[in-house]
Amino acid sequence: MLKPFGNRWSALTIILLLTISCGGSGGEAIPKSIILIIADGMGIGQHTMSYYYNDRYAPAAFDHVGLMATHPADRTKVTDSAAGGTAIATGVKTNRTVVGLDENNQPVKSVLEFAMSQGMATGLITTTAITDATPAAFAAHVPSRYDPNEIARQLAGAGITVLFGGGRQYFLSQDDGGEQEVNLLVTMVARDVQIINNLDDPIDAGLPVVGLFAMGDMPDAPQRTPSLTEMALKAVDILDDDPDGFFLMVEEEGTDERSHANEFDATVAALASLNDLIDAMLAYQKDHPSVLVMLVADHETGGWMIREKEDGLRDPYWGTRGHTGNLVPIFATGPGGAVFDGVVDNTFIGQTLIDYVTAQ
Ligand SMILES: [Zn+2]
Repeated sequence: MLKPFGNRWSALTIILLLTISCGGSGGEAIPKSIILIIADGMGIGQHTMSYYYNDRYAPAAFDHVGLMATHPADRTKVTDSAAGGTAIATGVKTNRTVVGLDENNQPVKSVLEFAMSQGMATGLITTTAITDATPAAFAAHVPSRYDPNEIARQLAGAGITVLFGGGRQYFLSQDDGGEQEVNLLVTMVARDVQIINNLDDPIDAGLPVVGLFAMGDMPDAPQRTPSLTEMALKAVDILDDDPDGFFLMVEEEGTDERSHANEFDATVAALASLNDLIDAMLAYQKDHPSVLVMLVADHETGGWMIREKEDGLRDPYWGTRGHTGNLVPIFATGPGGAVFDGVVDNTFIGQTLIDYVTAQ
């Protein structure tokens, strides 16, 4: 059987071959819409933590499971959310802190941007600032992730259907308590973008919606309002009105942030929030079988493990306050999901999802 790692076969080629060899009529393995969940920093340690310390382990419900290498373009093995996000979003490796540009600082088109070119609806959701590296990698192109004002200007002009998260300070003008010269929300409203403060604010169908629910990062789960799952369900409700399908990226950032802080209980809480999101998105997929739902991570954070102690008791242990180069688990359910059974590079995610949205 062909494996995606170590050769240049595209996912589409593999699917066409599988379709032919299975006697299929062709085309049925291409998803109409894609929901890409990114659990920032979630490696095998966090999966193990969720498995043992939450009431349930939602990723077990996915149909397909693989492992993904996360290294950046340079010779180091440890990446960050900018290079990791760019590989997942565009299928191209780059250097750390770089967003949406290749190693030579040339812009690379993301799956979200390809989806937009195809007339699909698009969405980005995060629990941190919407200008943070992971969402930025899908719609911004900047040499440094540490330029939230420029990232906000690019996101504001990108024509994305749904933007939910924190980071309102990067969109407001200095006169309005923010950091911009010009209030980006006002310029977006002038282009028929609807700004909401609550998920149940009335909106007109067919027009883009932006909800920035915190000045900076949103609070941790469970204090977060709205919750990540509420944001994702609202986004899907808006996006699936588009007959051309949609691409949605949903990020839980708490898994990375609380692992950096080596905070066990807060990481478990972030993983519980992620469980709710996975349950909701897989339930949606069951009712909408043309949708591909994936759970991936951009890298591992914290090197968490359970060590054996001499008395036989568990000994939860953090190996670092930084990122690691460990492979991370990936999951998929829905059309086109079977190619993620195996060991893949992070660029394979972006290349495959771009193949899917451009094959429609
Ligand atoms: Zn991190």
